[in-house]
Amino acid sequence: MEIRENKMRIGILGGGQLAMMMIQMSEKHNIDFIVVDPSDNPPASKYVQCIKSDYNDKGSLDLLITECDVVTIDFENVPSEALKYLENKVSVYPGSYAVEICQDRLKEKNIFNGCNIPTTEFRTVNSISDLSLAIEILGNDSILKSRRLGYDGKNQITINKYSAEEAWRLSGETESILEKKVDFKTEVSIIGVCPKSSETIFYPLVENFHRDGILNLSIAPYENPKLQKLAESYHNKITKELNYTGVLVIEFFLDKSGNLIANEMAPRVHNSGHWTNEGANISQFEAHIMAIADINIKNISVNGNSAMLNIISKMPKNINKSNNTYKVYDYGKSERLNRKLGHITITNDDKKDLIENVNKISKSFF
Ligand code: ADP
Ligand code: MG
Repeated sequence: MEIRENKMRIGILGGGQLAMMMIQMSEKHNIDFIVVDPSDNPPASKYVQCIKSDYNDKGSLDLLITECDVVTIDFENVPSEALKYLENKVSVYPGSYAVEICQDRLKEKNIFNGCNIPTTEFRTVNSISDLSLAIEILGNDSILKSRRLGYDGKNQITINKYSAEEAWRLSGETESILEKKVDFKTEVSIIGVCPKSSETIFYPLVENFHRDGILNLSIAPYENPKLQKLAESYHNKITKELNYTGVLVIEFFLDKSGNLIANEMAPRVHNSGHWTNEGANISQFEAHIMAIADINIKNISVNGNSAMLNIISKMPKNINKSNNTYKVYDYGKSERLNRKLGHITITNDDKKDLIENVNKISKSFF
């Protein structure tokens, strides 16, 4: 057997930009990584060799078992059987139970409600008659969402634009939920890091602005001590229930009466936490790796105000990658409609100046 001189090795299922940044941002910990991804040259392949295979490929899973101390994910739709197979033999964080719940909007909503965390009203939809009845109860101002495989606003149908029959057909007649639209003031998310053997550490709330269901802009911190405390208490309930290790993010609507309504959660680092690369002493990516590798995180602190603008569909031609006002991340992916290709982070001690810069940058590039 190969001797690894006590160097830790982490396996990552999924080699997208999240895996890429986990590897990039945790360089100083001298950890080796093995990435498994079914696609050609995923973003993480810029930094480490990626094994091209399906997530269920037994050979790849066995390799992770023999070579790695811990396995994690950059993508929540990894088949849970693959995680179950791995976790019999190697530590997997987050575990298959947590990931399975986050893969299914119905289970996710049920666990929120079971923990007394408010969600919007919803109904399970398995047929056209379920949908018609659900619309009667919740009204036309509602959204049909597939239970599985939805991301960036995909697999969601706004009912007030369609008849029940049309919506059901457009959904592909798949297991879904109908949820009532929330007339929100804004959206926020809480990013919490659950170390293997100590209390969760939180970043401040971040405010999120979506366009067509895709995150466009995040601004942090969203300063509101009462909501921060409430979001942290909700996060603690969930991670206790899920016996969670690593970064978990919960997205909320903030309704017009000031209530936090849980929308969904991600069992991984999250797009609304990309600002932490420049905006915090430890980024969400490094923090996740430290948490699962059982490296002590002394504290997390934030530097001034930060914003993150996503680069979607097209990489702006005139973007200056070396400048002092903003930082550009290019994931090296080919252009495609509504695909996340990179992001820009902007920091400033003064929030007003930050917003001004964000507006300027948005105008010149998007
Ligand atoms: P995804 O997995 O695609 O991110 P979300 O449920 O988070 O799915 O939906 C994406 C965005 O669509 C949300 O961030 C929000 O802006 C909008 N949205 C989704 N559900 C609702 C809802 N019930 N009420 C109002 N807006 C919603
Ligand atoms: Mg979302």
